[in-house]
Amino acid sequence: MPLIWIRVVWTVKITFYGGVGEIGGNKILLEDRGARVFFDFGQPFGFGTDFFTGWLMPRAINGLGDYFEFDLLPKLKGLYSREQLVSTSLAYENPLFDAVFLSHAHFDHVQHIEFLDPEIPVYLGAGTRLFLECMEETSGSCKYGDHSYQTFRTGDEIRVGDMTVEPVHVDHSIPAAYGFLINTSGGTLAYTGDLRVHGPRKDMTEEFVARAEQCDPVALICEGTRMVEVETRKNYSEHEVESLSGEIASSSDKAVFATHYSRDMDRFRSFYNVAKKSGRKIVISPKTAYLLSKLVGDKSLSFPDPVKDQDVLVYYKRKKSGKFDDKDYFVWERGFMNKMVGHDYVRKNQHELVIDVDFNQFAELVDVKPERGGHFIHSMSEPFSEEDLEDQVMHNWLDHFGLRFHQLHASGHVNKSQLKAMIDQINPKNIFPVHTENPQMFKKINKKVKTMQAGKAYTL
Ligand SMILES: [Zn+2]
Repeated sequence: MPLIWIRVVWTVKITFYGGVGEIGGNKILLEDRGARVFFDFGQPFGFGTDFFTGWLMPRAINGLGDYFEFDLLPKLKGLYSREQLVSTSLAYENPLFDAVFLSHAHFDHVQHIEFLDPEIPVYLGAGTRLFLECMEETSGSCKYGDHSYQTFRTGDEIRVGDMTVEPVHVDHSIPAAYGFLINTSGGTLAYTGDLRVHGPRKDMTEEFVARAEQCDPVALICEGTRMVEVETRKNYSEHEVESLSGEIASSSDKAVFATHYSRDMDRFRSFYNVAKKSGRKIVISPKTAYLLSKLVGDKSLSFPDPVKDQDVLVYYKRKKSGKFDDKDYFVWERGFMNKMVGHDYVRKNQHELVIDVDFNQFAELVDVKPERGGHFIHSMSEPFSEEDLEDQVMHNWLDHFGLRFHQLHASGHVNKSQLKAMIDQINPKNIFPVHTENPQMFKKINKKVKTMQAGKAYTL
């Protein structure tokens, strides 16, 4: 009897369930020889806004029911938890997915893990795990669900079925951000996550790019947040944000207020340095103090300890009793009361302080009574539209208190020319643009760019 050799040709499939033609919401499924792995599972900006707005939100009590009604999440078998599926037509099945990898702790990369079956392991950086823990502990509305978390660091190689995943650190506007090199039967894929090359740890991004180049990747899954025709919004490097803010603080005898994204710890560090170099102290919220207290354990990040560092003060809002009693505050807030300052202290010493103030906490300014001629540094993205209501309200407050406005921000993302240089260096065989509103623009900088449709499987 003749011997028949059957050569099995494995194919690697890639499907984008989010992040296609939109910023954020990355949900990238990779399938190889039976292994099925998601990379990121986030919520896009502007998620569900055709059907939900303001207080009209999907009901938690209905699990995924309200989301499926409007096709806001993919109806995939063996992915979601039993309780999330109770009021949907999708029957619960035991997990048909092997792992979910998270690149970093921004909500547009992690938020929808709350729906996942807890049996599916979630791999994430050790720092990302800390961020998720902090968010759940300090913000009542933030829930990520129960998971078997597995933490990794750069240098680890994680085997899932026949796939091997190597996380490599990158610089982004949050600590513990990673790109991935994914070794499959069809070759190596590189996934950038979110990254930049103008931040304080650009060496980490350079390391990722060099490693990706060495792998001669069959595909690059590449973020493109700043892939736009003309960049109208002003962007500085992190170093410039610090030095320009430093000039403001050093040359003023009035208060300096600053607002930035709560998880951007490079920006916290910049303002901490600004305060120190201008002979001021920095005033932070208990939430930032709590996050710092978690991160000080990681020596590679070298953050000041909010309990011990003499240049860090913690602002406690007054409660009805007016006494600043510890019982009036959440348990997690109480650890920094040795560094407590209230509105009286800030009012009297404002010229010696750099004060973190979030837009939602602006009412504290009524108590602080800033002297006219003080400064307000807006260290976040500029508004997307000139009619932005929050922006108008912010300026009304600043005008009311006579505070001078400064826009000083460093983006967490590579710009268009940096993207081109990065893609040229890595020189992948295929490019899948994600996390961008302008995937078609990638074609102008490289011919190997694929046009994708959300939910459609592509074979490598
Ligand atoms: Zn991000």
